[in-house]
Amino acid sequence: MQKTEGIATDAPKGGSTYGDFEIVDDQGDIELQTLFTGVCGTDRGMVAGHLQFAYNPKGQSNIILGHEALGKVIDPGSSTSLRKGDLVVPVVRRPGDCVNCRIGRQDNCSDGEKHEAGITGKNGFMRRTFYDSEEFLVKVPDLSMKDYAVLTEPTKNVMKALEVFGIVSKRSVFAAGDSTYRGKKCTVIGTGPEAFLYAMSFSDLGFTTHITNRHPVDDNRLKICEYFNLGFVDYSTDMGTFDQGIDVVVDTSGDPGTIFTFYRKLNNNGIMLLFGTNGKAQPTSVSGVDIDHMIERNLTILGTVDAAKIHYIQALEKLSQWGNLPNSPLKKLITSLYDPQDETVFTRRNPSEIKAVIRWD
Ligand SMILES: [Zn+2]
Repeated sequence: MQKTEGIATDAPKGGSTYGDFEIVDDQGDIELQTLFTGVCGTDRGMVAGHLQFAYNPKGQSNIILGHEALGKVIDPGSSTSLRKGDLVVPVVRRPGDCVNCRIGRQDNCSDGEKHEAGITGKNGFMRRTFYDSEEFLVKVPDLSMKDYAVLTEPTKNVMKALEVFGIVSKRSVFAAGDSTYRGKKCTVIGTGPEAFLYAMSFSDLGFTTHITNRHPVDDNRLKICEYFNLGFVDYSTDMGTFDQGIDVVVDTSGDPGTIFTFYRKLNNNGIMLLFGTNGKAQPTSVSGVDIDHMIERNLTILGTVDAAKIHYIQALEKLSQWGNLPNSPLKKLITSLYDPQDETVFTRRNPSEIKAVIRWD
């Protein structure tokens, strides 16, 4: 058993407590120091007591928060590939015993028996130190990525979504006539960190890419858009921008009304990727015309969650590529750094925030 300073909640009731906690569920002999943990809507939803699917580790009265982390190896234990000082990103989901979990694809767990660090039944990474095993650690290839490698966890979701997109898009010729995606249109709903990571990835594939929200955005966001060749559209005033149709829509809002507004803009063979969740969103109505539209145009709506270890590796490659561009604004996606003791990170959200991060070292 180990004792460490961290931030815990009582799931699914909520609240947050900073203090010393005894950890009984770490597995593995690699000792790690947490450097940064990202804060996302899931952490805030847990603290607010809104996420009924969250639960404490077995027999415990609280769970350490945090699933987006960057750690440093203090003692590599029995690892043959990690050395003291290496940077690593821990995998969030831990396998159950279903067939997908047994092949390392707990992101596609078929019976729900997997656990998620900091969310469902396994202590997370918002703490000074943790232990883990090699199987669940992904080495950061380059120490210079220290300032932004905490974005690996949100980026790995995009890498998996691109894999799913690749499979679904094969049912017809989706590429442009020159075999690339040049001229194809992608719209990403939302202007948070996942929205940017999705939009930057689709733009890299050659898509003409917009991100959109129902209000204007700050200068930092506009500058990042400009650098990565993304258009920003305030759809509350400029919905006409999308009248020529969209080939891929990615939703990070979880808002049914917005999702179906954009769904109706999809071109033939269009694909809508749903990633954002919002259990408190208002309902919307869907008509027979909408169903006709879906059938006649061969549309696909799909949900995608989490990712496998291979996608963490791909995410680190992607982040390295973006981070090494000349005058790269990648670090500007991280708009605020918090101390672990500052619990306002869970209750306050500045409109200019893209990604909030807690600094532990
Ligand atoms: Zn499973």
